[in-house]
Amino acid sequence: GHPPAPAASQVGTTCGYCGVGCALIVHTSSGCIDQITPDRAGPVNRGHACVKGRFAYAFATSGDRLTTPLIRRGERLEPVGWDEALRLVAERLKGVVDRHGPDAVAAICSARATNEENYLMQKLMRAVIGTNNVDNCSRICHAPSAAGLTAAFGLAGGTNPAEDIERADCILVAGANPTEAHPVIGARILQQALSGAGLIVIDPRRTTLAKIANVHLAGAPGSNVAIFNGLARVMLEHGWVDADFLARRAAGLDALREQLAWFTPQRVADVSGVAPDALLAAARLYATAMFPSIIYGLGVTEHTHGTDGVRTLANLAILRGAVGTGRGGGVNPLRGQNNVQGASDMGALPDQLPGYQPVADPRAQARCEQVWGCGLPARPGLRIPDMFDAALDGRLRALWVFGENIAQTDPDSSHVRAALDACEFVVCQEIFLTDTALAADVVLPGASFLEKDGTFVNFDRRFQRVRSALAPPGLARTDFHIIASVALALGADLGCPTPADALDECGRVAPLFAGISHSRLDRDGPLHWPCRSPDDPGQARLHLDSFATPDGRAQLAARPWLPPGELPDSRYPFVLITGRRLAHYNAGTMTRRTPNLLLSPHETLDVHPADARTLGFGEGDRVEVRSRRGALTATARLTTDVSVGQVFLAFHFPEVATNVLTSAAVDEATSCPEYKITAVCLRPC
Ligand code: SF4
Repeated sequence: GHPPAPAASQVGTTCGYCGVGCALIVHTSSGCIDQITPDRAGPVNRGHACVKGRFAYAFATSGDRLTTPLIRRGERLEPVGWDEALRLVAERLKGVVDRHGPDAVAAICSARATNEENYLMQKLMRAVIGTNNVDNCSRICHAPSAAGLTAAFGLAGGTNPAEDIERADCILVAGANPTEAHPVIGARILQQALSGAGLIVIDPRRTTLAKIANVHLAGAPGSNVAIFNGLARVMLEHGWVDADFLARRAAGLDALREQLAWFTPQRVADVSGVAPDALLAAARLYATAMFPSIIYGLGVTEHTHGTDGVRTLANLAILRGAVGTGRGGGVNPLRGQNNVQGASDMGALPDQLPGYQPVADPRAQARCEQVWGCGLPARPGLRIPDMFDAALDGRLRALWVFGENIAQTDPDSSHVRAALDACEFVVCQEIFLTDTALAADVVLPGASFLEKDGTFVNFDRRFQRVRSALAPPGLARTDFHIIASVALALGADLGCPTPADALDECGRVAPLFAGISHSRLDRDGPLHWPCRSPDDPGQARLHLDSFATPDGRAQLAARPWLPPGELPDSRYPFVLITGRRLAHYNAGTMTRRTPNLLLSPHETLDVHPADARTLGFGEGDRVEVRSRRGALTATARLTTDVSVGQVFLAFHFPEVATNVLTSAAVDEATSCPEYKITAVCLRPC
């Protein structure tokens, strides 16, 4: 059974939607939610919440929640008890390991689930199955942030807390639309700009923030590295840099200068369409501010050169000396999902153990082996896109998908579905019968964030408590309970009876989190990592004395601009950009089952009126969108928020299966897909 719902009618928890990490109070009576209110004591939201966190909770009590395990019998998924489902999962996983070895099994962890659940899942895969084939959806969103920020500063997290937005006298927002995707942070940026801070937006679309920005650089999709390098060159040419900081705390200036010789304002304009005077204005505004802050999103990372985008964006903060100073500023990625930072922190990565320790590092390995009491594989495992390729060529036989609807959210959906079909055995752990669950052999009914106990880590590295306000419906179990049960069915005890025990154990294997525990969070409130001991207050601002790089210096990156993986041509002349809308969240599995559906009942294709006129369709007309991989139809919405030659779609609705269009081209460093550029053609239906 699952833990009983608490008797208290008000439970403090953390929002399970985006990575802002708003503190919420869930008001319940008789086991039902009456309302959710934002917590005034929440350090990130301070009494605010958006239309998702505050109102979109009806999904938890939706009549179509999964309430019992399901097993495939022919074409049908049939309800069974837990014993039968767990026995089957264990038998099939063991069978694959016996016949093909441990690396024929892989797991995709969940950025929606708690840290403790992700910790347990990666431990099961490594310590029980014996493979590093474990990854999470940061692979398809912010893996370039982890790689780029680690290379630049030495740690895979944003450098400054949300509070520093209020210290900033200039905010540079690149490739992010926080007004819709991270509304509480979007509102804070807007307020800061309205109170006089400079605002620079680098985005191909005219987002809400772009419309009020002092400078909007609407560069062509795929031109980020050229723009960031162009800004760096202007800053150096005008002496708008912190020479003392560069001399004391940075490395790589000579190589950068050499690289920047190519990036004349005219060349940057040729690549990006950004006029030289706009580039100059943006560079001046950023570099002459006292406390300039950089906030960026998936428009920087989801490119074939996404890691280069992060590195060259970080260059600006290093040149300006606006990182690691304690005065604000910094370089901060807006994480998409509630716990995408935490899933990576917990080691749900194929090459890193908990706390970003390389799997082949003998000291980290020894620490885990000692605590876990077993030998561990040292060879890095498969990344998510590689899992699909491995399934198609027979190297991967069994896939466990935990709380991710990969059939809808991952790029080139036909490829993903073919990979799922090619696996001998697919387990899906979910709260609804998603497209991915429908393709599984066994479906295990999990719990929503409102029904579980643990922690999330938000976008600014803050561990916050998640507390159960409801019991999971029917036979559904918390994911923590499910993972532990599968381990027991495989003959292994994962050794963490409760989520609090799991976080304590994580602190023993990962020094970055050694000082964080449920009891401390309950007593003292949220804590930022690194937090290395019970009396360490945690570090809201990173790199104050020295950067965590091998030489202690911030590393400037000399990177060329390279064209994107996919370009428009005469057959596919438009560029499709994908992203999110205010009322919905990711695959829409949760928000479409709430009143938010009334606010935004279907997806639209955003297209510039001039393009619609040329092609002969109008507002509300149905339009076929076709890429080199697939086609869909959507209703046109005419708006100048997109430029001529560009269109926009979100991916919240399965009936507008946006990812049948997107390509499998990936960032060369991290395998993050190029969601932001797909060449398409349009045709009125
Ligand atoms: Fe939840 Fe994000 Fe909205 Fe805050 S901004 S309430 S974390 S969805």
